[in-house]
Amino acid sequence: MILTVTMNPSVDISYPIPEFKLDDVNRVAAVRKTAGGKGLNVARVIKQLGENVLATGVLGGTIGDYIIQELTKAEIENNFLKINQESRNCIAILHDGKQTEILESGPTLTAEDGSAFLAKYETLLSNVSLVTISGSLPKGLASSFYRSMVEKGRDKGIPVIVDTSGESLRQVLLHNVKPFAIKPNITELTQLLGREVEQSISSLSQALEDDMFQGIEWIVVSMGGAGAFVKHGSDFYRVTIPPIDVVNPVGSGDATVAGLAVALKHKQPAPVVLKTAMTTGMLNTMEAATGHINTAYFSRFFELVNVEKIDY
Ligand code: ATP
Repeated sequence: MILTVTMNPSVDISYPIPEFKLDDVNRVAAVRKTAGGKGLNVARVIKQLGENVLATGVLGGTIGDYIIQELTKAEIENNFLKINQESRNCIAILHDGKQTEILESGPTLTAEDGSAFLAKYETLLSNVSLVTISGSLPKGLASSFYRSMVEKGRDKGIPVIVDTSGESLRQVLLHNVKPFAIKPNITELTQLLGREVEQSISSLSQALEDDMFQGIEWIVVSMGGAGAFVKHGSDFYRVTIPPIDVVNPVGSGDATVAGLAVALKHKQPAPVVLKTAMTTGMLNTMEAATGHINTAYFSRFFELVNVEKIDY
């Protein structure tokens, strides 16, 4: 079973308001509400790939109850730490071909909440063979929080994939116990290194030779429609994908992590791991719903992904 961690989940609400009026009343007929947060997108896609998945993290209040209800409806096993505060809503107003987002920051956790979650996480590790950690940390937890989770995984010999950004990613990478895999995009890579990284093979290879990446088995730099650049051990790969009709690219990074997790769990060879991850990313962009793929198209697009090992 794969464990997905979402520390600050949300109910994502979308309001389609074709002609949005500022400082006026806007009425919405077709409201859409989904259980959101990057780790929940990962969990949904893993489930769609036919794998057993267990979703964990921290939630609370009636919004937390709604998230559990949605996960249960989707038959995704879940075991979250429940806190005495309300989880967050994230609102997207779809108007004039644009998307205006209003994102609540969510609850502020106490040190006791943090310790209680780590205790739960440690118990859950006994029944899983791989972990994914996605998204930002809630307020109140130290930016080094994910470090302890990676370390606990490593102690039990369980590979941990980390997909976060900013200070929490930096903290994970500066630790001597490394995650098994990370999936930054170019913006995250640039932020981490504090210098511009370009989409060229030389710029990317140089970036991934940085000391902070040493000891990480898989570094998958996803590049949207341009596919990915990858370092696996001491090997480099350029992965290219076919042009496709993109409907909604939001969550494609999460779908990529889901594909990566499933292929790694099955100890597939490197080209299969990369083709699976790119295919789930692509399939997500082809659907309107975030964190959703149509598995009927899997083999067709899998065959169209090209993995080239690079001599560097
Ligand atoms: P997000 O933050 O929206 O989850 P991300 O920046 O983490 O995205 P991307 O690099 O945009 O991740 O996308 C991940 C993968 O999804 C890509 O490597 C690719 O396989 C697929 N993908 C994303 N955008 C496109 C696109 N426009 N055309 C084809 N495939 C895409």
